[in-house]
Amino acid sequence: MIILFAITKKTMKEMLSITLFIFLFTGLASVCVAKDKFFCSSQILAKRTDIGFTWTVVSRLSEILNNAEKRYGKRDQSWTLLGVEFTDLKQPETWYPFDSDKRKHLIIQLTKKASKNEKEALFQLSHEVIHVLSPAGKEGSSVFEEGLATYFSIANMKTLNYDIDERYISEKKYQQAYKLIDNLYKNFPHTEDRIKTLRGQVKRIRDITPEQFSHAFSGLNKKYATLLAKKYSEWDVK
Ligand SMILES: [Zn+2]
Repeated sequence: MIILFAITKKTMKEMLSITLFIFLFTGLASVCVAKDKFFCSSQILAKRTDIGFTWTVVSRLSEILNNAEKRYGKRDQSWTLLGVEFTDLKQPETWYPFDSDKRKHLIIQLTKKASKNEKEALFQLSHEVIHVLSPAGKEGSSVFEEGLATYFSIANMKTLNYDIDERYISEKKYQQAYKLIDNLYKNFPHTEDRIKTLRGQVKRIRDITPEQFSHAFSGLNKKYATLLAKKYSEWDVK
């Protein structure tokens, strides 16, 4: 009995050691996996290179913002863009932290999916950059602003050499908003100069009136101009 007990004790000790080893090993392994998952996109972890660092969403932001300003004019510099973060929201958005303290700070929030998918991250970033040009705040953006953001996200991704077209836009409402802007580009020469002029007339893109649209795009159907100026959240797409 004593011998058996000793063997059992020894076996148990060994089993415990093995269990402990497996636990530690899998524990370490899962930490590594978690680490890999966290840095799953090369757009998040900046790695030192001979000339600086590899591209990340933050350094890409500079390039994308520059592209947007070239097309549509300078951003409203009374706002401070704090940076880019990832959330578990379904949609990307611009967030105004400490808005109640009247701080004019904003953060671009991208989705969890974007943290694992470089193309999606840059696509979302390109969209949100348009909202950064003249933050709409609580009042929300217009149909025109959402359409422009969606249009620019496709156009800018092409500039960044991504294989993409409007079929990449998943939501029907954004597809329709994209088409509204695409039609302007197709029917009016120097569309971007017209948009720049419009931006010079208002504080925020969302403030452009139907009359201003009709004037900048002469001959534009009145209903079309009214739709562009409509609040995006109040637009029902059939
Ligand atoms: Zn948007």
